[in-house]
Amino acid sequence: MQHPRRRIRRPVAMAATTALSLTLLASASTTLPRPAPASAGPVAAAPDGAQLGPCRIATTMGVQMSEGLPTAPGYVRSTGLVRALNLMIDFPDAPGDGTATSRFREFFPQTAEWFRVSSYGRLHYQAEVPIPDWLRMPKAFSAYGIERGSPYEPGYRSLVEDIITAADPKVDFSAYDLVNILVTPNAGPSALDTVLSVTFSGNDDAPYADGVPLANTSFVYSRQDDGSGSFGETGYRVLPHENGHVFGLPDLYTADGGGTVGHWDIMSEDWGANNDLLGWHKWKLGWLDNDQIGCASGTGTGDYTLTPLAVAGGPKLAVVPLSDTSGYAVEVRSKEGNDEAVCEHGVLVYRVESDVDTGHGPVTVSDSEHASGGCTRRANVHAELSDAPYRPGETFTDRANGIRISVLDEDASGTYRVRITRS
Ligand SMILES: [Zn+2]
Repeated sequence: MQHPRRRIRRPVAMAATTALSLTLLASASTTLPRPAPASAGPVAAAPDGAQLGPCRIATTMGVQMSEGLPTAPGYVRSTGLVRALNLMIDFPDAPGDGTATSRFREFFPQTAEWFRVSSYGRLHYQAEVPIPDWLRMPKAFSAYGIERGSPYEPGYRSLVEDIITAADPKVDFSAYDLVNILVTPNAGPSALDTVLSVTFSGNDDAPYADGVPLANTSFVYSRQDDGSGSFGETGYRVLPHENGHVFGLPDLYTADGGGTVGHWDIMSEDWGANNDLLGWHKWKLGWLDNDQIGCASGTGTGDYTLTPLAVAGGPKLAVVPLSDTSGYAVEVRSKEGNDEAVCEHGVLVYRVESDVDTGHGPVTVSDSEHASGGCTRRANVHAELSDAPYRPGETFTDRANGIRISVLDEDASGTYRVRITRS
């Protein structure tokens, strides 16, 4: 449900990243700085489970999109029925390439299915197409001045106003939770050269239609065809990445590419083989319950049982808090569900920092095998981190903070036991 609110505030663009090569490409995100976190947000925002308190790393103020809990208000609810309005647009200087419905089918039903699988069925993503034709914009694409990293003002505001004018006679904008603008792929540069796809989320200063602001809107341009021949299966994945932003997730890739998280989250790498979200993100989105989270906040030793993240039910995540704004998360990843490219299953250990902003590395995966070159040869999968998981007998150590995370064993069902020691 959208809440009409009016705040005079300029959207702030993410710092533009530069010199991106093909393997580093993901899409930019832009969102508003948020006020102090309030009570809205996904299910995981519910402040129950007192013993999890120290592990509920808090959202940090002054960060555009924080990894902390709960997600700030203004983003789209990430459980239950979510209605997505899809509008396919073209321009006088870039008339629709193919039919509008064929453009829609590049992303659906795969995107809805991706969310169903990743959320264990908790997010019912309903994609709707009230206008099955190209929506022609009144001005040339070039007239909007849209480039990678463009802020909302003035180009996107102008484009959104024109979209509303063109669609409003046939669309009740108040019926939708989020908006996807699927731009004809011949408008703008090839995604092989520069990725324009972007999401403006939590932006209640956006133009209004039918009484609601278009506050959570994703724009997808060109085609993310990596040339490996898998475009038909994987080209849609830019959209679940962009929609991740409307649910409040930050970009995990940095100006240096996907080297901090690799292919372990679609907010890090959205080209090539399918991948899932980190368990931390699933907790943040309300797809894991508090009783599926272990919290290693006290000194001493504790053993934790973890079942594969891709399989519904059971314990999924152990969190080791370091401070009010950081901690380690521990989970089991395997080649199942959306995790198509996993070449070494095991226990993934990563650090979450709620005071590090989108695109600046809020999550860092710990590599169990430094400088190994990894185990994958898949295109657009960060190779070095592909063998990051810890196997039985291996231990992650953070001497400075007195933390050891040892993998004890794995059973036939892929369930692991992990021993966490804090001194
Ligand atoms: Zn992004």
